[in-house]
Amino acid sequence: MGKPEVKRDYTLGERLYLVEIVKGLGITWKHFMKNFRASLQKGPHTVPTCWQYPWDKREISPIFRGEHMLLLDEEGREKCVACGMCQRVCPAKCITIKRGKVKEGEEAKYAGKTYCASFEIDLLRCIFCGLCEEACNKGAIVLGQGYELADFSRQACVADKKRLIGNFLRAKEEGRLKPKRPPVPVAGAKDAKAAGPQKAKSAGGGQGKGLKRGV
Ligand code: SF4
Ligand code: SF4
Repeated sequence: MGKPEVKRDYTLGERLYLVEIVKGLGITWKHFMKNFRASLQKGPHTVPTCWQYPWDKREISPIFRGEHMLLLDEEGREKCVACGMCQRVCPAKCITIKRGKVKEGEEAKYAGKTYCASFEIDLLRCIFCGLCEEACNKGAIVLGQGYELADFSRQACVADKKRLIGNFLRAKEEGRLKPKRPPVPVAGAKDAKAAGPQKAKSAGGGQGKGLKRGV
């Protein structure tokens, strides 16, 4: 095997490689000093080049789709009426709901005539697409900002009703609820409404109103 052909004349400094090593060390030293100086300052996230997770946490976007919340209304009643729309639309089939009928004297606890006796979301199967939130006509389910979902057992990754309501109460207390979004108008609903009730029914898929979304 012959010697490789050298197409360029390298200087002595380049051939010894010392200057390049010193240059590289200079860059390393510059960053080290910058981080060292910053780490002496007080307050979270003082080191500019990396986030010291879990002590430093990034601000989460208000529209982030994390762990779900089941919402209560202004009077503290559960909004969910267990209609099953979210369960039906869920592509991962990870929502399980059991419906109950509101008995006399329980009206202060539930906003509708029916309620979810049990509501479970398997977070290991959920793909956080947000379709359940979109489908809920009562604005009862919203994806929150919780993202630290790792746990040690499968069962611990199934969020039950208590946990989902707890997520809402915590987010409310910490002021992390999503801003309200306006209802999405159904395409052609306005024209169809003007044309008469029969046409409006066909254009709106029988609903006639936009999907109600948000908190
Ligand atoms: S969360 Fe909304 S869509 Fe799902 S069952 Fe409750 S009311 Fe229906
Ligand atoms: S976010 Fe998507 S996958 Fe997860 S529960 Fe809702 S609809 Fe199902």
